[in-house]
Amino acid sequence: MKQVIIIKYGELSTKKDNINFFLKQLKDNIVKVLDENSQIDYDKGRMLIYTLNIEDTLKKLQKVFGIHEINVGYVIDSLDFEEIFKKVLDLLKEKEFKTFKVESKRSNKKIEKTSVELSRSLGAFILKNLKDIKVDVHNPDLMINVEYRLNNTIVYFEKVKGLGGYPVGTLGKGLLMLSGGIDSPVAGFLTIKRGVKLEAIYFESPPHTSENAKDKVKELAKKLSVYNNDIVLHVINFTKIQEAIYKNINHEYLITIMRRMMYRISAIVASRRNCRILVNGESIGQVASQTLSSMASINEVVRMPVIRPLACFDKLDIIEIAKKIDTYNTSILPYEDCCTIFVPKHPVINPSTQKCQEYEKLINWEDLIYEAVKNAEVIKISNNTKEYNDLL
Ligand code: ATP
Ligand code: MG
Repeated sequence: MKQVIIIKYGELSTKKDNINFFLKQLKDNIVKVLDENSQIDYDKGRMLIYTLNIEDTLKKLQKVFGIHEINVGYVIDSLDFEEIFKKVLDLLKEKEFKTFKVESKRSNKKIEKTSVELSRSLGAFILKNLKDIKVDVHNPDLMINVEYRLNNTIVYFEKVKGLGGYPVGTLGKGLLMLSGGIDSPVAGFLTIKRGVKLEAIYFESPPHTSENAKDKVKELAKKLSVYNNDIVLHVINFTKIQEAIYKNINHEYLITIMRRMMYRISAIVASRRNCRILVNGESIGQVASQTLSSMASINEVVRMPVIRPLACFDKLDIIEIAKKIDTYNTSILPYEDCCTIFVPKHPVINPSTQKCQEYEKLINWEDLIYEAVKNAEVIKISNNTKEYNDLL
């Protein structure tokens, strides 16, 4: 019997006026993960995918945001009840269960019976033909779902949970500050889930940071690209800025000023790329630069909204998500990141914004930032190719 994958939208169905926009984006995102031989059909209630490669497609669909539930069903090319019931019975012979419930849906309104009547007739037919089984409407071993459609009938049993969220791209674009740590890939994942298509920015300080550290970030970007379709990574050479800060500025303020520079550069890159928000992995209280007054002094340099999906998460909860999305093992590789190299012994915990501004006058930061942005390396990382392709 021909198989079909059924996709249910969940939360998306609440987008009354915009539903077509959301569904079109979802369809486009799904098409990107399907092979050429697959076919897709959709209406406001569900999407149907016909493919020869059910298992593989199912795995890929489980990583597409905007899908609430996935079922693998069987297509019965008939509208004749007797024939349909017999085919359902054939399918049931391969299943082990003691109790069952039938749920019917009738999109073909020419059928005179109500869905309750349809469920009852099929239930009675099953009871008559199979031994030692009972109906249990509350907690059945097996749910038998039958959809009577205009041209055919679809039967399915198990449910597979989808990732939920909104289709990537429906909420515009954002720029993720992606370090090699555990937090920022998780922050990225949660933002993509809200429908925001991400680009990423990484600050490196060669020769103080190694090529290995950069490869690690590329690898993390690649893991995120699975959910984001692909991802553009901007690599910023931060060495001159970091050295200028290190040489000229009170070491207590190293991190605060460094992060102000990162924010400024990120905001410039973001607006050039039509990204409306910055996203990072900051979490309240995690380190000295993430106290409330640090955040305020750092945030002060940009006007763009800064989204911190992990602001109120415990580290253990962040780690749990990192493991689920398969970024954890890459994140814990031991390569130095540019922040860790220039860490002062006693970073300021309550920096004053006024002092930040005074210290910054000691370096020619506007020119340094201009140069760093101008020399950014732009890499397109795709989930479909094994190699990283240079964009440019
Ligand atoms: P993570 O927070 O990702 O585990 P981390 O702990 O090394 O990495 P923090 O010092 O906590 O990073 O920095 C907070 C956030 O600032 C990071 O989550 C990331 O969004 C951003 N960030 C830090 N370093 C970099 C960098 N080198 N390039 C891009 N973004 C960075
Ligand atoms: Mg962190």
